Amino acid sequence: MAEGKIIKALSGFYYVLSEGRVYQCRGRGVFRKRKVTPLVGDYVSFQAENEREGYILDVFERKNELVRPPIANIDQAILVFSAVEPDFNPALLDRFLVLIEAKHIRPIIVVSKMDLVDDETKPRIEQYICDYRQIGYDVLEVSTKTRAGVESLLPYFEGNVSVFAGQSGVGKSSLLNALRPDLQLKTGHISHHLGRGKHTTRHVELIEIGGGFVADTPGFSALEFDEIALEQLPLCFPEFVARSGGCKFRGCTHTAEPKCAVKEAFASGDIPCYRYEHYVSFVEEIKERKPRY
Ligand code: GDP
Ligand code: ZN
Repeated sequence: MAEGKIIKALSGFYYVLSEGRVYQCRGRGVFRKRKVTPLVGDYVSFQAENEREGYILDVFERKNELVRPPIANIDQAILVFSAVEPDFNPALLDRFLVLIEAKHIRPIIVVSKMDLVDDETKPRIEQYICDYRQIGYDVLEVSTKTRAGVESLLPYFEGNVSVFAGQSGVGKSSLLNALRPDLQLKTGHISHHLGRGKHTTRHVELIEIGGGFVADTPGFSALEFDEIALEQLPLCFPEFVARSGGCKFRGCTHTAEPKCAVKEAFASGDIPCYRYEHYVSFVEEIKERKPRY
């Protein structure tokens, strides 16, 4: 019996990487009784039949999973947001950050297309970069056109399973191509997998970059807060968490309560107004959510 990681699932076969070899496996083990469907990213035990084939015996417990794309055990999400074309969108970034924080995935913010930043847009972009770094996020500035900053991403991949996320057209496939020129994905390729259409096949594969794995399909295509509880929301804003000890009430939601350290930080400008405003709008959105039956 051996152990490995599923790096690809296709036509009923699971491709398990173990000690440098890939085994084409079918499922046969006890996990089927538990009604677990193996996912790309799963750690499994398997029985090798020869040097290329085997069958999966069991699926180990997952630390997290995504539905779209179907992938398990994600360590980090590389959030690609272009500085321009399309314009940097902090409301969308905060939405992604909440979804990612809620799944205990580490976000890394990549500001792409930096070559297109001109003197007029520069101060605005620099302010955003500064704000997100202040929160504690890693923010990388890249251009796949000039290759500036592309290499700075490499160390983040080592030993991790990463998934790219971000709206279409921001340069995710260009970045993957810059990191793995041998793959030559068509630009726009990975966004085609976004899977909004019913007929899209949701195939995902982990590719090796910088000593780690990266999903070839972007994640977090569904951006609703369906699975996020109201109490969980403030925990997805690290700079609120850092200040919540100063709030008068335990479990302060940083909205209507008096003596709230988060609101004070917002009022004094320590927390940028857009971050707090996004938080409030997300609170409303979750409150208005229709109960699911
Ligand atoms: P995706 O939809 O996120 O995968 O985005 P693509 O990689 O397909 O890129 C969308 C468009 O932006 C393409 O026309 C790319 O050539 C262009 N693009 C991507 N990265 C950069 C960049 O760093 N600088 C500039 N100027 N254009 C870029
Ligand atoms: Zn508070």
